[in-house]
Amino acid sequence: MESQVDVLIVGGGLAGSLTALKFAIAKPELKLLLIESSGKLGGNKTWSFHESDLTEDQLSWIKPMVARSWKSTRVQFPRLDRTIDVGYHSFRSEDLHSYVTERLGESVMLETEVDKVSEHKVYLKNGEIIEAHLVLDARGIDYVPTPKLNGFQKFIGFDLLLEEPHGLESPVIMDATCPQLEGFRFFYLLPWDANRLLIEETFYSDTPDLNRERISRSILSYAERKGWKVKKVEREETGVLPIPMTAYYIPNSHTGEAIPIGTRGGYFHATTGYSLADAARFADLLLASPTYATGAVRESLMKSRRKWLSKQRFYRMLNRFLFYASEPSLRYQVLQHFYEQPQEVVERFYGGRTTWSDRLRILSGRPPVPLNKALKSLTERSVQARFGGPQ
Ligand SMILES: Cc1cc2nc3c(=O)[nH]c(=O)nc-3n(C[C@H](O)[C@H](O)[C@H](O)COP(=O)(O)OP(=O)(O)OC[C@H]3O[C@@H](n4cnc5c(N)ncnc54)[C@H](O)[C@@H]3O)c2cc1C
Repeated sequence: MESQVDVLIVGGGLAGSLTALKFAIAKPELKLLLIESSGKLGGNKTWSFHESDLTEDQLSWIKPMVARSWKSTRVQFPRLDRTIDVGYHSFRSEDLHSYVTERLGESVMLETEVDKVSEHKVYLKNGEIIEAHLVLDARGIDYVPTPKLNGFQKFIGFDLLLEEPHGLESPVIMDATCPQLEGFRFFYLLPWDANRLLIEETFYSDTPDLNRERISRSILSYAERKGWKVKKVEREETGVLPIPMTAYYIPNSHTGEAIPIGTRGGYFHATTGYSLADAARFADLLLASPTYATGAVRESLMKSRRKWLSKQRFYRMLNRFLFYASEPSLRYQVLQHFYEQPQEVVERFYGGRTTWSDRLRILSGRPPVPLNKALKSLTERSVQARFGGPQ
């Protein structure tokens, strides 16, 4: 087949951009194209990750985008205040956009909407067809998450400019000392510089609805309670991430189709909803294929995909414990118990590398889960039978 392009990635969000970046670095001889419908890569988000989520090599090619790094983070619960001594890094969509567009140059095609994708062809809305040896579909989540088969991690964040320094040295990834509303509720604090701070109010909730007005007031009154005078709200971001109970959201990758990557392929941590580590991991796996044609790459991904699927099963079970078996106002206790574990257990959890002994530790102790409810939530099949499949 006479292809115009070697590797064509549709969707310039986090996964599409990171995968394109990795190809550009590792295989500069390949003709690469990244197509994004909007005028900017990455949307409007702040991405954070623990240093231990990534390998050294992954850190080396992702770190140039990082806007701010810290040596540790903190979590606060009613009976736990703990510092986690692992590096933490954050960057925003604009950091991703400027770095990736600079590195990729003409390989980035913005403001181009794709209508359809197949194994070797991409059909643009303007009628143009582009052929490629390898087509990756990174257009983001393509289903409406069904409540009951999903919980939701929903949040609104404000980047605040303060009148005076806030005094925080490191991020607080969970301040759950607040009243527990709508399930598990906490504030997330990212100190960009002495006077700038991202405050996000987050809920692990049964519903996807966000009351923007109420949450805005609540973020500002949280700042006030801390003694921080707000000069200006410089930026706002919103997220509603599905927290799945069963595997239905993970599509199979079929012959004749492009390979779904990123959240399109279901590749995110089922409990945290985060996808950066998986995006980096799968970029490496794609690169490790002996040849770069869609069919061959699909085949070569199979083994690692099976391993990844098996790890995710545990996180979905934890979600069922959290959402089905524990009282919404006591969900925080499951997380509090988790953060009492040794640091390596916490690191492996975030990185999606939880071991069998970690699982026992996380589920042991006295979580606020009555045994009969826990047993009912145990299998995906029982949940599917109770709530039915996605509509
Ligand atoms: C506010 C927010 C903060 C988050 N923070 C973190 C975090 O700190 N750490 C973390 O790991 N995860 C985080 N996540 C979760 C997850 O990592 C992100 O949602 C991530 O952006 C998902 O990446 P993706 O590439 O799979 O999908 P998306 O980022 O949704 O990208 C899909 C892209 O495809 C484009 N597209 C869609 N349709 C077409 C089309 N027809 N033609 C062309 N282009 C198209 C879209 O415009 C978009 O740019 C966050 C999510 C949100 C919403």
